[in-house]
Amino acid sequence: MSVYQTSLYTDVDFDRRGKQIGRLKMPHSVTRSAYGVIPIPIAVIANGDGPTLILMAGNHGDEYEGQIALGRLIRDLEPEAVQGRVIILPSANLPAARHGVRVSPLDGGNLNRMFPGDPEGSPTRQIAHYIGTVLMPMADVFVDLHSGGASLDYIPFVAVTLCGDAQHDSRALAATKAFGGRYAQVWAPSTSGVAESSVPRPQCISLGGEFGGGGVVDIDHTAYVERGVRNLMAHLGILPGVEVQNDDSMRWMTSASEDLYTFAPDYGVFAPACRLGDTVSKGQLAGEVHAIEHPERPAIPVFFSAPGLLICLRAIGRVEPGDCLAHLAIDIDDPVI
Ligand SMILES: [Zn+2]
Repeated sequence: MSVYQTSLYTDVDFDRRGKQIGRLKMPHSVTRSAYGVIPIPIAVIANGDGPTLILMAGNHGDEYEGQIALGRLIRDLEPEAVQGRVIILPSANLPAARHGVRVSPLDGGNLNRMFPGDPEGSPTRQIAHYIGTVLMPMADVFVDLHSGGASLDYIPFVAVTLCGDAQHDSRALAATKAFGGRYAQVWAPSTSGVAESSVPRPQCISLGGEFGGGGVVDIDHTAYVERGVRNLMAHLGILPGVEVQNDDSMRWMTSASEDLYTFAPDYGVFAPACRLGDTVSKGQLAGEVHAIEHPERPAIPVFFSAPGLLICLRAIGRVEPGDCLAHLAIDIDDPVI
């Protein structure tokens, strides 16, 4: 890693075996700290020959389950148990994670819209560029752990990106099944600047998912992330002697259609008329937006535009026009491996 290739540099050696817990160091010169760096935690746990797995969380700073689970993994996983290499980036957008916010307070940057990034760009663009050009090319499998953050709450699901290459897609689906869980979403490769858009395909497969939200840390959702990551490592042969442990009957779904999303029509407070996990119909009442400053005005009803499973619901009462209130997921055929 050269500071001439990218502004970030690191004190870990990605080719060294053993356990290293270090930092990605992003120069950040400000009044308080003329020669300062932003120290983004990173761990490399490697032993013998085997696949390279990159586990990332904290892409958005207010999404905690992945950050907690990967911090525990850094502390608990010893190289003697590993066959291959695990690279862990638990709080990728550290400036945002430090403040428990979605976007970086340094530049307003949403890391998951900044890929492929820019080594000479804003701090968030520099992080994206390092992940995409230095870390991802090393990976056989890349995992980006999200949740709904402060504004949304999700029924947890694992997600996989399929690209149409038969061998890649078969590997990706097998990894998704090993990760386990009740719900899985299938995504197409994105061009919207999300992290998985920089994954080098077909050699690398990528998994993601939403594992809760509401700006809290849910005990069950965190346990799901930990179990899923362990199962994935076992499936990949990174944990020799460890069996994949799930007998989950997976429901394959998608949220890729615009009519599955519901938005606030006006300022006010959103009062849902349904609960996460409900199966709703087209035209069903999603909730009402109340103008609490004007109780004499009738609440504005909001309706679902399609049928589906309510997989995501707004976690903040106050809304403005255009805020996402809810989105649905619909069933797709079980993918064939
Ligand atoms: Zn996120």
